[in-house]
Amino acid sequence: MDNAVWHTVLGEIELTVSRATFATWFKNTHFLGYDGGNVRVGVPNVFAKHQLEVKFNQQIVGILKKNGVKFESVEYIIHSLPSKKSTGSSYLKSNSTLASTLSSSNKYSLASSKLTKKTPHTLNRRYTFDEFIVGSGNDLAYTACQAIVKYPGTKYNPLFVYGGVGLGKTHLIQAVGNAVLDKNPDAKVYYISTETFVNEFLESIRFKKKSFSGKYRDADVLIVDDMQFITGKEKTQEEFFHTFNALHQANKQIIISSDKPPKAIPTLTERLRSRFEWGMTVDIQPPDFETRVAILQTKANVSGVTLPPDCVEYLATHIQTNIRELEGGLNQLLAYCEMRGIEPDLQIAMGLIENTRSRPRHITPKQVIERTARHFQLDLDDILGPKRDKDIVLPRQIAMYLLRSELHLSFPKVAKELGRKDHTTAIHSVDKIEKNIRLDQIIRQHVNEIRDRIYA
Ligand code: ADP
Ligand code: MG
Repeated sequence: MDNAVWHTVLGEIELTVSRATFATWFKNTHFLGYDGGNVRVGVPNVFAKHQLEVKFNQQIVGILKKNGVKFESVEYIIHSLPSKKSTGSSYLKSNSTLASTLSSSNKYSLASSKLTKKTPHTLNRRYTFDEFIVGSGNDLAYTACQAIVKYPGTKYNPLFVYGGVGLGKTHLIQAVGNAVLDKNPDAKVYYISTETFVNEFLESIRFKKKSFSGKYRDADVLIVDDMQFITGKEKTQEEFFHTFNALHQANKQIIISSDKPPKAIPTLTERLRSRFEWGMTVDIQPPDFETRVAILQTKANVSGVTLPPDCVEYLATHIQTNIRELEGGLNQLLAYCEMRGIEPDLQIAMGLIENTRSRPRHITPKQVIERTARHFQLDLDDILGPKRDKDIVLPRQIAMYLLRSELHLSFPKVAKELGRKDHTTAIHSVDKIEKNIRLDQIIRQHVNEIRDRIYA
């Protein structure tokens, strides 16, 4: 076995995974050696090692066997390729990286302007499946969206995608539109925000235009973003109801996004709500640690930068709320480094996060504790009191963690706020939650939900 065989493996894998996945996990892998028993593969960092071991080993073993390699196991060893970079600021591919990183939408504006003729309500060409990283929080939504590209109008109609801010709803539903257009450039794919729909409709009434009712009814795929904005707009709901029926009857695909599920959108008329539930409803959850890492690495790679693993880990640990913030943090880091001609590292990342994390002053420790207690349906006295029941201890620990992560209180202060004398309790609790957030989906979700409430 030699290097060429590893390239064969890479070639085959590239055909089966998305471009982003391939770039993230396989780009800097290389053949290290073969002693008849072990195949040794070099991987750039601990994340890639983990992914290859857990997710891809079976596939890799299969391809090697198919190619006649006789071996017992494959070993993934963290081993960087001899660096081609490391001279001053040249870690960036070009000087224009900053601009393109900061406004990636500009980068694609050429592509999208070419398309404006075909898509009056323009899709952003940047929002593709290839650029979308799939993780445990969004895999269901991703799978449903891909199915729609294969069977538009028949498989899941309508598709209703809901989830919090910045989690990739717009990206994903537009990716469907882009993929449909790639397959069939003549398809009528309309993307509109609900706000636009509302405004156009109101305008048509004001100026007594007749044309509106037919406006979206010739769509093959109608994508309507942020349906929660239809709240309280009865006439618009009625209009949308008719548009919906016309399209649905003609087996045209309808995709809707919202920040909440249909039954939680206030004042949605019953008939519209029931129609939204006819097809498939999927949610998008905040990304887990591995997904955040993958997103950071991929987006950095796109900018021509390889971030050191400790730096990626730091960002992924400290920016958990949503993907938009994650991108924002990364862009800030890259911009900061490019302006100074330095390479990103852990120290710089820490400095930036600390600065941007000067959290709103109006949030008090008491509010954090109250929100946590309320989330777990506990009395404030319980969480502050001496009880050590399991279902009180965890909320208490989470409250301590949040006091630390959101308000940056010192450990003695954290302890004091929760009525504890010993600050090592606080250290232990914060440590524990920090670890569990990575390992335990349920705890992660609790923390995210409480944090959202705190800032709501
Ligand atoms: P939402 O519509 O849910 O508020 P967006 O779709 O606008 O969120 O996503 C916010 C940003 O995060 C966008 O720049 C988008 O490209 C990026 N993003 C979201 N999810 C992903 C993902 N899974 N992989 C890569 N980028 C993502
Ligand atoms: Mg959106």
